[in-house]
Amino acid sequence: MSVPLLDVNAQNHALKDELRSAFDRVLESGFFIGGPEIESLENEIAEFVGAKHAIGVSSGTDALVCSLMALGIGPGDEVLCPSFTFFATAGSIFRTGALPVFVDCDPVDFNICLDSARSKMTSRTKVIMPVHLFGQSCDMNAIVSFANEFGLAVIEDAAQAIGARYQGQGCGAIGDYGTYSFFPSKNLGGLGDGGMVVTNDDELAELARKMRNHGMAPRYYHQMVGGNFRLDAVQAALLRVKFTHYGDYTRGRQENAAYYLEKLSALDGVVLSDDAAAKDAKILLPVTRDGNEHIWNQFTLRVKSGQRDNFKQFLADRGVASEIYYPVPMHQQECFESLSEHSLGALPVTEMLSAEVISLPIYAELTPEQRDEVVAAVTDYIAQA
Ligand SMILES: *Cc1c(COP(=O)(O)O)cnc(C)c1O
Repeated sequence: MSVPLLDVNAQNHALKDELRSAFDRVLESGFFIGGPEIESLENEIAEFVGAKHAIGVSSGTDALVCSLMALGIGPGDEVLCPSFTFFATAGSIFRTGALPVFVDCDPVDFNICLDSARSKMTSRTKVIMPVHLFGQSCDMNAIVSFANEFGLAVIEDAAQAIGARYQGQGCGAIGDYGTYSFFPSKNLGGLGDGGMVVTNDDELAELARKMRNHGMAPRYYHQMVGGNFRLDAVQAALLRVKFTHYGDYTRGRQENAAYYLEKLSALDGVVLSDDAAAKDAKILLPVTRDGNEHIWNQFTLRVKSGQRDNFKQFLADRGVASEIYYPVPMHQQECFESLSEHSLGALPVTEMLSAEVISLPIYAELTPEQRDEVVAAVTDYIAQA
């Protein structure tokens, strides 16, 4: 039996009629840019995550760029972000002309490490951009108090964490801005690119709305230079269909994660990564921090003793797909090679994780048989390792 990492179209096939009628609604209305579908999606997302304002944008990447531009970030400024993340986090900072300053992360929850952030503070630091990696919140109370101590703005990169909760609050709705992605492989995946910016601040909402549309207000008057970061009405209408099923998608992922944790933790040499026995284990399981609701964009193991790539090959030979998120951390990317030592300085936990992590299929539509096949493959690996 083969188990893909993700079946990106499984959800859409089940919703063909609803998706087609959403498309027809837009076709009949003639509103292709802006209009009621965008506003409805914005209201639905704002309510869901507990933010006062939501601004639909063209992608998760543009949500970050738009937020940074709205805060006036540019040349001479520094932005703290984790090195262990998807490229868009760092790329969006760099594209504003600001310096991305790469920070180490926590080996248990994979999220930004504030001791490392503190060591990289300068008088030019303006923003901290935590990433809720793999669908689990960062420690937002600690991040907000760190930001307040130094007068920094907080942009939460919640591309992988829409609907994840931190002490009951929605990820993305805690900092000055939060950003989401509707890339098809994200937990709320569209039929193309899309994203959202959220904020609780009226002025920041107004700024992001202007930035999304060339900094224009009123029409043909520009007090600032923005971009075209708009979300298509067709995409918003399709996303609204997906969104009505989002609770099921999240529950499916959470049930799969709970199943893996139960079955895999019973194996010899497999423990949670915060377990006292972790240093002698072969495989470490992901941990959900107290107070977090994890939405499992990825289910990510750590394979110790340099065996990660062997493990990946073993799974592949069994027909079980897996992926390395992420094999090369941002501070080691070629495109950032010429940045200063202050930005790139060694990040030992990040480097260790890049060599150890591997993500298993976790998507909601996995069948019980596929899930068991994944467990059986890991079980057989452990037996021969
Ligand atoms: C996917 C992702 C993005 C970018 O989202 P796009 O919609 O693909 O532009 C940004 N940050 C993180 C952490 C992501 O995983």
